[in-house]
Amino acid sequence: MTHNLVVNYGLYKRMDVFRPRLVSPTAMTRFHSDDYINFLKVISPDNMGDYTRQLQRFNVGEDCPVFDGLYEFCMLYTSGSIGGAARLNDNGADIVINWAGGLHHAKKAEASGFCYINDCVLAILELLKKHERVLYIDIDIHHGDGVEEAFYSTNRVMTVSFHKFGEYFPGTGDVLDIGYADGKNYAINFPLNDGMNDETYHSVFKPVISKVMEHFCPGAVVLQCGADSLSGDRLGCFNLSVKGHAECVSFVRSFNIPMLVLGGGGYTLRNVPRCWTYETAVVLNEQNVIKDDLPYNDYYEYFGPDYSLHLPVSNMENLNSTDYLNRTKGQLLDILKQIEPVPSVQIQTGGVESQLNPRPIAMEIDEIGKDEGGNGSADADKRSDERTDGRKEHAAEMAS
Ligand SMILES: [Zn+2]
Repeated sequence: MTHNLVVNYGLYKRMDVFRPRLVSPTAMTRFHSDDYINFLKVISPDNMGDYTRQLQRFNVGEDCPVFDGLYEFCMLYTSGSIGGAARLNDNGADIVINWAGGLHHAKKAEASGFCYINDCVLAILELLKKHERVLYIDIDIHHGDGVEEAFYSTNRVMTVSFHKFGEYFPGTGDVLDIGYADGKNYAINFPLNDGMNDETYHSVFKPVISKVMEHFCPGAVVLQCGADSLSGDRLGCFNLSVKGHAECVSFVRSFNIPMLVLGGGGYTLRNVPRCWTYETAVVLNEQNVIKDDLPYNDYYEYFGPDYSLHLPVSNMENLNSTDYLNRTKGQLLDILKQIEPVPSVQIQTGGVESQLNPRPIAMEIDEIGKDEGGNGSADADKRSDERTDGRKEHAAEMAS
């Protein structure tokens, strides 16, 4: 639906649309376990009876259902994120969007919260081939637990998550969870209560992200834009407008760091494409041009009765007091101050123990161009797509 709206607004004309090379199972095992990936490859609704034990072990079947084409689905969204990261590494783009990605809950050997493969983690691993430090920011209403866990003990990846906390899935993301060993102070969690509105969200998001940029100085950013933090979401309980949500994208963009923009949750179906289409416009700096009246599109009837891009927020109570927000913000800024600021021109002044010398991390990071995961070599697009002019426009886009 998002893609169709992006196409019908004409936004695709202002960007390059690429079809990434499909990743191999091996590329997914850079993070996930071999047996979990093998299981995802073979499981289908027809043979579930033969895999009772593994379904349980890998947490597949209930919240994370088996459906026809499950592995293909995983491969497609993961290819978009890894391929997008590879394109950033190649300087083929300054911002890459994959609205199909952002499945932040998946664990090494376990599906969780509708997420099977953690494309965020795999994309970050791809970016680490080139960049010393990668920043992950998560504005989904749920805690970005899978990504945090993957990088909990490294100082090469900082994870920053703003989420509803307290009797809410997945239950993690306390302000006191700050990382471990080398990763201590490199996991940042802002736990929130119901009813966050645009103004209060920005009052914490902007100062925290500014301080993160100042002290961590990432070479690349992955921004997970789960749309379940919007007002009126079926599972969410925040009160953000599309513009308020997108202001976070705009703010991160303003730092001019190579950025991979991913989707994520979002359970009031019609609002998800609204949000991500507007955010596509923000990425393109077209937010003042894009009209509130929706263009005719394949899903037009979903957007009634107003057929507009933006949505009204509700009058729900904001259970986050100014005092609570300021206190928590202060706690996080104090954590960030403990990180040695990275000079804008990298000078190796630090000793062996300095945080300026990032330690290796316990996952496989291949050299650029050697793996099967990304678009490492110059002709990567040719391998993924019969067109050879570099610029990819799907037939469907031209027809719309
Ligand atoms: Zn979510």
